[in-house]
Amino acid sequence: MLKEFKADLHIHTCLSPCGDLKMSPKAIVEEAEKKGLDIIGVCDHNSAENIKVAIKVASGTKVNILAGMEVTSAEEAHLVALFDGPEQALELQDIVYANLLPGENDESIFGYQVVVNELDEVEDLNKRLLIGATTLTLDKSVEIIHSLGGLAIASHIDKESFSIIGQLGVIPEGLELDALEISPHMNREEAKTKFSQYSDYPLISSSDAHFLEDIGKKSTVFLLKEAKIGEIRKAFGNVEGRRILS
Ligand SMILES: [Zn+2]
Ligand SMILES: [Zn+2]
Repeated sequence: MLKEFKADLHIHTCLSPCGDLKMSPKAIVEEAEKKGLDIIGVCDHNSAENIKVAIKVASGTKVNILAGMEVTSAEEAHLVALFDGPEQALELQDIVYANLLPGENDESIFGYQVVVNELDEVEDLNKRLLIGATTLTLDKSVEIIHSLGGLAIASHIDKESFSIIGQLGVIPEGLELDALEISPHMNREEAKTKFSQYSDYPLISSSDAHFLEDIGKKSTVFLLKEAKIGEIRKAFGNVEGRRILS
């Protein structure tokens, strides 16, 4: 039986330097419940250290967590990676950490990168330069995400900065993206017109929330059997009745 799932697949936690400190996994899950979201993608910049806690606090709620990361490619373009479980996201994290540009996070400029537990207590401050780019090209990043069983989605393609189109002017031919994401600043109809040359790609809307109040500001409604990557992949391909409803 297929059901509707309201999904916001791009949400940052307090681990992202630009994420509000109130964005703890616990607070995010509570906010997602309040907004009636069935699926959320937890995607911090170049890290997945708050994923396990997010999954833990969401268990027993109606919110399903997809373990994600927003990878910054060598081209300085953002890419949302989504997985079913923390293991794959943490495997990606190992690869990303090994390919992060050197340097330490300057908390006075970029903000704190807070790893928390399920009680909202600070466990660690990540010192890596998570806001920076990796040395992984877009091609390579997509290849790695797919090899780990994940979805690779171009972040906020309507944004001038840190999007594939903003950085390169185009979406390179042959880049095997699973979908394109538009930010809350653009609606689907505008996007379909503006990006008509990319109509072969499925289009999703996400909040890219860095603040609690922005969670669910934009979302995508899917018709799926369950909240799994394989089901979303089918919806992207309009397979077996799975599809994007709005
Ligand atoms: Zn981004
Ligand atoms: Zn983001």
